[in-house]
Amino acid sequence: MPAHMLQEISSSYVTTTTIKAPPNEGLHDGEQKLEKMSLYSAEDIRPEMKDDIYDHSYQDAEGPTPKLEYVWRNIILMGLLHLGALYGVILVPTCKFYTWIWAYVYYLISGLGITAGAHRLWSHRTYKARLPLRLFLIIANTMAFQNDVYEWARDHRAHHKFSETHADPHNSRRGFFFSHVGWLLVRKHPAVKEKGGTLDLSDLKAEKLVMFQRRYYKSAVLLMCFILPTLVPWFCWGETFAHSLYVASLLRYTIVLNATWLVNSAAHLYGYRPYDKNINSRENVLVSLGAVGEGFHNYHHTFPYDYSASEYRWHINFTTFFIDCMAVLGLAYDRKKVSKAAVLARIKRTGDGSYKSG
Ligand SMILES: [Zn+2]
Ligand SMILES: [Zn+2]
Repeated sequence: MPAHMLQEISSSYVTTTTIKAPPNEGLHDGEQKLEKMSLYSAEDIRPEMKDDIYDHSYQDAEGPTPKLEYVWRNIILMGLLHLGALYGVILVPTCKFYTWIWAYVYYLISGLGITAGAHRLWSHRTYKARLPLRLFLIIANTMAFQNDVYEWARDHRAHHKFSETHADPHNSRRGFFFSHVGWLLVRKHPAVKEKGGTLDLSDLKAEKLVMFQRRYYKSAVLLMCFILPTLVPWFCWGETFAHSLYVASLLRYTIVLNATWLVNSAAHLYGYRPYDKNINSRENVLVSLGAVGEGFHNYHHTFPYDYSASEYRWHINFTTFFIDCMAVLGLAYDRKKVSKAAVLARIKRTGDGSYKSG
């Protein structure tokens, strides 16, 4: 099918947006500033969700940075996991064909549990999902083992609202390593706890499925992230135990982890900022490839309520393709998309000049 037809089909299923182009022409400097503050809320299309919108007024308190407190348990476990994954890399060429397919499908599904689930549905509420889809996503999310949805969404809303301050759990001003994985190996900065505690998480607390996952998280993770991906190749097509464990379980898990972390590290450090040059997040195509569509990160931080997390829909964005397929089946609905006019107006107002139309 030609690309423009696919694009048309995809757009025809999208809920009409209510965003209008902001009237920002001919303003003076003082007015520009005021306008900028108010526009952040005027552009939003989710009346019920606001705690992922960047708070310009919040800044780090003066004073020395508290000493790093290492969490040795996490350092050792993360080290062992990566050693196991490296051994898995050596075993990849000698895997059975079905094991490759199994590991790849498991990578895609657990990736969706993060991108379509924890991120676009539960952290940002960019679309709505019916129970069968939410069930699928909570299982997929458990396969990905990146903390339960409640905790993931809380950290992520803090990341958007207090970006690049000490209240951002993976503050990219603390360097590539810290924003990639280091933040999971040390105690949280006091500001993360303090400001994280002020976030409105009532929608998550009210969702029984999210709370159910939280209650049984440890045993569910053990089963879905490690035991199941190891046992299936071993029992079903006679793969060796080592290949099943090191490739389908540990290597696959480590790849999904690092692909997600690259959104926090690389996509906050490398790439252009066509939508808003005043924020650190950037457009990074390579990250999008690994993280099934989450690398259009300058766009995403500028318009966190857009279900595609990108100006475009299916361009290097498997997650949007998946959500659109779910919408065709009637399982996803009320997808929020920012209008082209609003995007272009924003590019003109705050972009870095790197935007290429077409
Ligand atoms: Zn986000
Ligand atoms: Zn970010």
